[in-house]
Order: sequence, then structure tokens, then C-alpha cells
Amino acid sequence: MRRLGLFGGTFDPVHLGHLRTAEEAREALALDRVDLVLSARPPHKAADHAPIADRRRMLELAVPPGGPLGLDFSEVERAGPSYSIDTVRQVQAREPDAQITLIVGADAFAEIGTWKDFATIFTLCDFCVTSRPETSAGKLPIAVENAFCYEPTRGVYVHRSGRALRFLPVTALMISASDIRRRCAEGRSIRYLVPDAVVEYVAAHGLYSSGRTAAR
Ligand code: ATP
Repeated sequence: MRRLGLFGGTFDPVHLGHLRTAEEAREALALDRVDLVLSARPPHKAADHAPIADRRRMLELAVPPGGPLGLDFSEVERAGPSYSIDTVRQVQAREPDAQITLIVGADAFAEIGTWKDFATIFTLCDFCVTSRPETSAGKLPIAVENAFCYEPTRGVYVHRSGRALRFLPVTALMISASDIRRRCAEGRSIRYLVPDAVVEYVAAHGLYSSGRTAAR
């Protein structure tokens, strides 16, 4: 059975905090691969994202084929809002022998009570909640805590369905996409916060330079 991690985000743009988090989750959980899932039309975030085509291209530049990280564009190809539960179901249908772990940053996980069918999603796959600077991690949100019990020998929370949820501390890199966009708008450097190829792409396409780019 293949062990597959899915790490969703708007990636506007993808940065080293994302890549390092995905890599540390892959290593810690002994996953065969971690796919970055581009949340094309996120239901919980403002609508004025950079065009999907640009966010996709930057991911392709940041994650070359053949490496330990992969890319999943099923939410780009699907119409309507990007719901994680639909993606998990789609990946399961496509790869029935894959054991899926959904990797979610602590800030995103704190909002899980607002996700579509959040109670069901815990029955479909395992969860790994990764730390993020300035977000306290290690706590189950009230909306879900009754569905889990802690198993100290394994250091995981076990859902009543039998699926596992673990909290994983990762190297604290205080990088956010909104800070990167702000720096671009101010004409400042973003080098070493994102992969070099993304620095070049942002500059060549004038992304984020005069406020937000229009949604496409
Ligand atoms: P924005 O600043 O626009 O809100 P972001 O930097 O949070 O964007 P997203 O694409 O929204 O980026 O994040 C995708 C996932 O990556 C989320 O689960 C988030 O918690 C996680 N993440 C983002 N930045 C970091 C970081 N520096 N360290 C660890 N996890 C991160």
C-alpha cells in the first residue's frame, strides 16, 4: 500500500515554508510522496487571488517532476469551490490502494469546524496537523474533540472511525504568502523566501507588484 500525503493551499505564491513543511511531514510519517494540492477556488479565503494559471505554474517551477514532492491539480480541473473532502474522495477513486494522510497547518486546522462535511472527512483519511509560527498547535478544536481519544503509546489521537490524527512540530519558518505579496507590492526582495525560479516568475509577470492581481 502506498502512503500518500496531501497538502492543500492557495499557494499564492508557493514559498519555502510550504515546501519545508511538506518535506518534514513526508519524512516524519514515512510517506512515499506528498502532493501539494492547489486550492483553486478556496471557500474560506478572499476571492482576489492571483490567476490560477500563475499559481499553478509557480508550483510546477517549485516542485519539479521525479522528486519526493508531487502536485495535484484536481481542484483546478473541478468546477466550483475547492473542498478537501471532494479531493480526498477523488484521489481515493483514482488510487484505491493509497493510504491517504491529509496534512494541514495548525492555522487551517483551527478552522476545521467550518469545512464542508468535516465530521465525515476524519472517517476517510488520517490527519497530520503541522505547526506554524505564531499559531498554537497541539489542541483539537472544540468542534471535533469529542470524536477522538488520545493514545499515548502511539502519540496519536484516534478517531472513532479508527483513523489517526497526529500533531507534528516542523521547523519554524516565519514566511507567509501574504507577507511575500506585501514585499512585492513595496518593491522589496523576496529572494530566499521562495524558490529562485518563483522569484524570477513573479518578476517576469509583474505579479503582486501593484496591489492584488485580478482573479481569473
Ligand atoms: P496567506 O498568507 O495568503 O494566508 P499562507 O502562507 O498561509 O497564505 P496557504 O497557501 O494559505 O499559505 O497555506 C497552505 C498551508 O500551508 C496551510 O495549511 C498553512 O498552515 C501552511 N503554511 C503556510 N505557511 C507556512 C509556514 N511558514 N510554516 C508552516 N506551515 C505553513
